Amino acid sequence: MRATVRLGRWFGIDVGAHWSVVVIAGLLSFGLTQGVGDVALWATVIPTVVVFLGCLLAHELAHSVIARRNGMHVVGITLWMLGGVAQLEDVMPSAGAQFRIAAAGPAMSYLLAGAFFLASRVGAAFGLDALPLSALSWLAVVNVVLGTFNLIPAAPLDGGRILASGVWAVTKDRTRADIIATSAGQVFGGAAVVLGVIGPFVGVPYVSVWTAMMGLFVVRTASAEQQQARLMAAIAAHDSRVASEVV
Ligand SMILES: [Zn+2]
Repeated sequence: MRATVRLGRWFGIDVGAHWSVVVIAGLLSFGLTQGVGDVALWATVIPTVVVFLGCLLAHELAHSVIARRNGMHVVGITLWMLGGVAQLEDVMPSAGAQFRIAAAGPAMSYLLAGAFFLASRVGAAFGLDALPLSALSWLAVVNVVLGTFNLIPAAPLDGGRILASGVWAVTKDRTRADIIATSAGQVFGGAAVVLGVIGPFVGVPYVSVWTAMMGLFVVRTASAEQQQARLMAAIAAHDSRVASEVV
């Protein structure tokens, strides 16, 4: 994922956005306003969507800062249509480091959810208008959804990395851990593609072409990572420098 525009350096990490982030920002804005042309509504929705993108960035920054603290080189963060990606370089030093780096993202999302929930409670107590209150509640909910979705144990999702770190710690076999986590990613991603394509026609709630696209991304990334894990094992070169992505 190559950034179209640079958004500067945050905590010493290069942040950029791919043009496709406009797609998600636009869809969210129209979804939240339902296309109603009310000025007050849009004046709330646009900053809310910008804050949401900031939440995606905070999730990736959490991964990146912890990755750097564990001795990995962080190439940068890119926001795009399906969320954020942090590009890491170097071999994952240990199962513990892999766990900490993976868990940092969802932990940040839950932390943000708690902060927005608290803000909505305080806002309600001080008589804040209904519109900004519902924006705060929405931000709390989407951060819970973001954190929870990412904990699905299927690489490249964070839960898949956590699963891999556990298998690695128990079996001491990094390759096996990667293959199990990426196989789970292929199964989960494949199921999401099928669900996203067929679901809307048979009345499955909350699934759309978006689900299928996310599934496709998961399958492709998991397959590429599995191939890399097998290759590294074959040439016994786990110590050489590799690039990886954290979502
Ligand atoms: Zn993540």
